[in-house]
Amino acid sequence: MRSQEQGKTAGPVGDINVVYQQTLKNPISCSGVSLHSGAKVSMTLRPAKVDEGIVFVRTGISGGGARIPATWDHVVDTTMCTKLGNKDGVTVGTVEHLMAAIAGCQIDNLIVEINGPEVPVMDGSAQPFVFLIECAGVVEQRKPRRVIRVLKEVSVRNKGRIATLFPGRGFSMGFEIEFDNNAVARQSLSLGLMNGAFKEELSRARTFGFLHEAEKLWALGLAKGASLENAVVLNGDKILNKDGLRYEDEFVRHKALDAFGDLYLAGAPLIGRFHGVCTGHSANNQLLRALFADKNAWTYDVLRVDEAEVSPHVLAGMVAGEPAAAATA
Ligand SMILES: [Zn+2]
Repeated sequence: MRSQEQGKTAGPVGDINVVYQQTLKNPISCSGVSLHSGAKVSMTLRPAKVDEGIVFVRTGISGGGARIPATWDHVVDTTMCTKLGNKDGVTVGTVEHLMAAIAGCQIDNLIVEINGPEVPVMDGSAQPFVFLIECAGVVEQRKPRRVIRVLKEVSVRNKGRIATLFPGRGFSMGFEIEFDNNAVARQSLSLGLMNGAFKEELSRARTFGFLHEAEKLWALGLAKGASLENAVVLNGDKILNKDGLRYEDEFVRHKALDAFGDLYLAGAPLIGRFHGVCTGHSANNQLLRALFADKNAWTYDVLRVDEAEVSPHVLAGMVAGEPAAAATA
């Protein structure tokens, strides 16, 4: 589908008014523990061809490698993390923070080789992956970037949890969370994510969890790699990490980071506004499924330079309040 649609939207090469696809300049590797299995894994990010998209390759499987395209229709599980799988049942889990970094660094085409079933958790945020991409360098490719423009409001609801995509200029996000906990409590955020704002505003926000829940997960053999090195851990209202938080509202920022990564599984950058109320990986994937189920709700487009350069503050200010009011009604 991708290559068929691509022909419709690609502008002439050399058009200075449109944004071009990007990939890495050089391959780069890292290793670390995986959050759930606790196993050590190695990962290499490699440059990829124009229109290839983001593709995971599980190395050492059936002699060669097993390919798993990083798209919404390859999501096979959203319990605790976003897990992708192919038709042969080969999976790769906890892709969301890496996907957020890839989206935030505006990488269109990339091969992610990995020698285990889970992306390393690193410090629990997307910052180490942003650093890796910056070290490798980014190059522009000879074809305009394809984006997915949201044309009408699409929403998924489950009890009080609501995820919505609205049409909009550039890409912006709103998020609200509410926990029965004084350290987290109620947090909300609204920001524009064009112009590389991801790195500054979201990339360093770490995953978080509660000690009593971690103890339950450990008993089930899950979250084996989780520690104060890769998560903000709360014991009741107390934050156990000795250096405290990286952002005052790190919790809601991490939820937005997760959604940003999950939404990049659209297969291209979305142009519109996302708003999440107490949602997680499952709702993010359901929302993409709802979007793509309605042919009138979206279209492929190229991104013009003037839209790509919209100030993040303008984007956030333009829409502040409106979706939040709708969501709490
Ligand atoms: Zn996360």
